[in-house]
Amino acid sequence: MSFLEYAPAPESKAVLNLKDSYGLFIDGEFVDGSGASFATISPADESHIAEIASANEQDIDRAVAAARRAYDKTWSKMSGRDRGKYLFRIARLVQERARELAVAESLDNGKPIKESRDVDVPLVASWFFYYAGWADKLDYAGLGANPRALGVAGQIIPWNFPLLMLAWKLAPALAAGNTVVLKPAETTPLTALIFAEILQQADLPAGVVNIVTGAGASGAALVRHPDVDKVAFTGSTGVGRDIARAVAGTDKKVTLELGGKAANIVFDDAPIDQAIEGIVNGIFFNQGHVCCAGSRLLVQESIHDEVIDRLKNRLSTLRLGDPLDKNTDIGAINSAAQLARIRELSDIGEAEGAERWTADCAIPDKGFWFAPTIFTGVEASHRIARDEVFGPVLSVLTFRTPAEAIAKANNTPYGLSAGIWSEKGSRILAVADRLRAGVIWANTFNRFDPSSPFGGYKESGYGREGGRQGLTAYLKGASA
Ligand code: NAP
Ligand code: MG
Repeated sequence: MSFLEYAPAPESKAVLNLKDSYGLFIDGEFVDGSGASFATISPADESHIAEIASANEQDIDRAVAAARRAYDKTWSKMSGRDRGKYLFRIARLVQERARELAVAESLDNGKPIKESRDVDVPLVASWFFYYAGWADKLDYAGLGANPRALGVAGQIIPWNFPLLMLAWKLAPALAAGNTVVLKPAETTPLTALIFAEILQQADLPAGVVNIVTGAGASGAALVRHPDVDKVAFTGSTGVGRDIARAVAGTDKKVTLELGGKAANIVFDDAPIDQAIEGIVNGIFFNQGHVCCAGSRLLVQESIHDEVIDRLKNRLSTLRLGDPLDKNTDIGAINSAAQLARIRELSDIGEAEGAERWTADCAIPDKGFWFAPTIFTGVEASHRIARDEVFGPVLSVLTFRTPAEAIAKANNTPYGLSAGIWSEKGSRILAVADRLRAGVIWANTFNRFDPSSPFGGYKESGYGREGGRQGLTAYLKGASA
């Protein structure tokens, strides 16, 4: 029972101007899809939001043809300065329609409005602003003598940060002069379709960006299309492997941003209050649906009990419920399938002998929910220490020495991110140097900036998004 009760403070849906159904966005217009349409629902109450078109192979072919025409006739002929103007215009329209985009994202995805409003949407705008600034400077950035676009990019994104992942994909591709066919995830197409309206508002030339909704098969058709020059994928390691196989032996360039199982390492000299906030942010932000989530807490043995006590106290104050309520900390799990996976892995954790603790919070009757959960006494061999749960579940392991912390942190097939909490700068640098992870945060977690490259080692994929490095993935003959 929380000692502070808040009155409901739901954000109004009146700001939305949704259609009953959405077509595919091809060649600057919404057109019918040839596949069977499907519904997108709100995971918080399972209510129907809109009917969404599904792209089959012919639709994908139409979209790729539109992107190719736009590339040949307009986009590749345009100066970087003019491309940049479109990107600036898009960034400003995202800011203008920020509230609408935040409400739509929380409705369709289940994430708390304070996260979509204060994190996702502002980052989306900043990604477009940042890459808008690069569009006219490609020749002067040490990216090679004559950096040129690749052509048509096929991009596939997941459901955990629908609009932000769209921005990570589109902004660098367009700045570098490519045209795009993008497939959003099946459960979260809504903000990409509102974004298509923004592209119309921005007068972006037809065909430069095409958005094709559908399930995995639509994505697979896009990957296999012979006229796609570049495949950019964010999603699970399993699908990433399928994609790597599908493009093997072709000229297509590929970047893969896949899963993770990050270690968040807390040393005994860490500022404990900040570390507790960082642990909470690391794994309970966005219901733990975060590829770089700090899902493995490695805590020095001498402070284990204190950290766990404080963490349980803190978790007991988190409010779970309506994603559109401004006071909500933990929203809904994105889908019934994801909820089933979180439940399954948590049950396995218990069966393997780890001790389960769950925050005491009321679960709404409808929708998909999972209360914040901690497993203590986790061993490196447990499934919950190895598999990506992709939910609000923290596995706690202990260590005694920095060397043991490093060995345990690196004992994973993934290598996307890590966190280090210590007062000692020299220790932070020494440990960071030995962690096999693409992004390492010190005394903070889950911070993102468009100028900072992001990407993985090992089964977390290859290639970098963000920064100058993110441009090279969309240019011929460029290296970071
Ligand atoms: P997913 O199942 O791999 O799906 C990702 C996208 O690929 C979706 O649009 C999906 O469509 C599509 N897809 C499915 N099968 C496909 C196929 N055979 N060929 C081409 N496309 C296909 O992943 P998810 O469950 O949505 O997302 C969670 C995963 O993404 C986690 O593992 C997470 O770590 C990872 N992730 C990584 C990053 C990063 O930057 N490294 C960022 C965010 C998420 P449907 O939606 O219709 O299935
Ligand atoms: Mg949905």
